Amino acid sequence: MVTQRTFSILKPDATRRNLTGKINAKFEENGLRIVAQKRIRMTKEQAEQFYAVHKQRPFYQDLVKFMISGPVVVQVLEGDDAVAANRKIMGATNPANAEPGTIRKEFAESMEANSVHGSDSLENAKTEIAFFFKDDEIVG
Ligand code: GDP
Repeated sequence: MVTQRTFSILKPDATRRNLTGKINAKFEENGLRIVAQKRIRMTKEQAEQFYAVHKQRPFYQDLVKFMISGPVVVQVLEGDDAVAANRKIMGATNPANAEPGTIRKEFAESMEANSVHGSDSLENAKTEIAFFFKDDEIVG
């Protein structure tokens, strides 16, 4: 096991329904530590840049609109194999396919409004963390 950091977002559907505590409990109960966290409203430019990899996908504009529709909580999570561990805790992108007990199974509203984002590789985690946090904002 190797200690890693991964990047997480509690999406607008989660903040709207006041679920930040319940979702954070899932991370903590499953061995991840929240080492940085802030509640922000993403700008359109930030959301477009953050999801630039999906630019050619048909849902891109809707996704950007959704991500700026309310506050989000951006986070850095730390723990053993944190990138893969968080993906497991989150569950599948489509909540209909998510395992019981996962965040998306319990809380997601739809394929788009699926409550959380989590980095899908260590390399992306590093880029995404640096996109939202300065080094001295992360306290391990
Ligand atoms: P993730 O890594 O599990 O978040 O999934 P992806 O990287 O494939 O997609 C990024 C985000 O785009 C997802 O978390 C959803 O919010 C959204 N998304 C993915 N696929 C679809 C889709 O088919 N329709 C819509 N409306 N949104 C989608």
